[in-house]
Amino acid sequence: MTPREILALCREHQVRAIDLRFMDFPGTLKHFTIPVQVLTEKSFEEGFDFDASSMYGWQAINESDMLVVPQPETAFVDPFLPHTLCLSCNIQDPITRVDYAKDPRNVARKADAYLKSTGIADEIRFGLEPEFFIFDNVRFDQTINQGYYHLESAEGEWARGKFSEGPQSNAGYQIRKGEGYFPVPPGDILHSLRNDMMMALTECGIEIEAHHHEVATGGQAEIDLAHKPLLQAADLLLRFKYIVKNVASRAGKTVTFMPKPLWGDNGSGLHMHLSLWKDGETLFADSGYGGLSELALHAMGGILHHAPAIMAFCCPTTNSYKRLVPGFDAPINLTYSFRNRSAAIRIPVHTSNRNSKRFELRFPDSSSNPYLAMSAIVMAALDGIQNKIDPGPPLDKDIYDLEPGELDNSPKTPVSLDKALDALRADHDFLLRGDVFTEDVIDTWIWYKTERDVKALRERPHPCEFLMYYDI
Ligand code: GLU
Ligand code: MG
Ligand code: MG
Repeated sequence: MTPREILALCREHQVRAIDLRFMDFPGTLKHFTIPVQVLTEKSFEEGFDFDASSMYGWQAINESDMLVVPQPETAFVDPFLPHTLCLSCNIQDPITRVDYAKDPRNVARKADAYLKSTGIADEIRFGLEPEFFIFDNVRFDQTINQGYYHLESAEGEWARGKFSEGPQSNAGYQIRKGEGYFPVPPGDILHSLRNDMMMALTECGIEIEAHHHEVATGGQAEIDLAHKPLLQAADLLLRFKYIVKNVASRAGKTVTFMPKPLWGDNGSGLHMHLSLWKDGETLFADSGYGGLSELALHAMGGILHHAPAIMAFCCPTTNSYKRLVPGFDAPINLTYSFRNRSAAIRIPVHTSNRNSKRFELRFPDSSSNPYLAMSAIVMAALDGIQNKIDPGPPLDKDIYDLEPGELDNSPKTPVSLDKALDALRADHDFLLRGDVFTEDVIDTWIWYKTERDVKALRERPHPCEFLMYYDI
């Protein structure tokens, strides 16, 4: 859409407010609002002032003025705020008009430009599978010494997960732990809410492939998005989360994308189906393992090789690593497989349509900043292609059925956020190519995540410690 078309759209929908949105450095959606009369065709070049000093990890207070520059291709009419049109923005320096290096959207734009500059491909496509929980109400007043997590879920009592598991009851139509995959209503009590979400998403220009209840009880859902090029996929994921949370909120519920809200049941991932394209043709289909091309195998090699470092962006919270444990369909071994859902990379079953050839990266989760996570993945994949990194042999057994010790020598996902940050500190030259991630971006990320996440949890007594140590 051109700026002129945006203004026409505003008239057509009787828009009276323009909501200007951007993502901060850690990955939270931000906005401020202007009256529609203030928006002109020139606004799309000139942008609007704002104070960036209050944004975590951004400008110092003495150089706080920045510009938001609305991007016409991101427009949509907000289904929740009356007479409102939303526009995602780039962040620029008001004097030099240089794009801001710590604007996550700018990092993604540079990753895309770098991909094109290599001549390897002109497009990387991401098919995203966000999983999330829907709760009625979240109360953090755990009765700690009885070991309860007291989360009231949309599916009721079960979510009082006990630390010490006893036999489970089922009071009728309640999904048992780990048995939430694909039940029909009345077991699937979230069906109509997910339908409402799907319809709102579709009306806001997001192509949905399917939605379903996910494995965990306690109201776990998945809504899959059609594959899109990098920047568009990240833009649409912000819109997706906004819409899903607001549909839930209107129904008196909350949605959480945190990776592991319930101990003892599946967590929520953000699986990413990746493929590289040139001149409208996939570069991934050929006669190699799982019907993949050599280039695709090298891309996997790069991602597996740099996985511990890029997980600092793809799994960037302390909670991320509570998901990445054995037994819950989440990856713990940095390996790949044609048929195995428990590997870090899975190659979906071969279809006759060569253009649907892709691999599924399973470790990312939705606590990530999608612009940074997807950019890091592209850079690792390109390094694999440029340096012909061998992904090693595939793993074709169910990882969870192996004999003890059988995988001792296979590389593992980091066990905690600080380990992933250590890996990023040691391995980030590949991210600096094409000036995609600057040293400042890497340093700020490591600093922010260490101070605000790792230390915050490390220094606080944890509810589980009361269970284990109170009467010691
Ligand atoms: N919820 C699982 C995860 O944490 C994945 C389940 C699936 O294969 O869709 O990644
Ligand atoms: Mg799933
Ligand atoms: Mg999947």
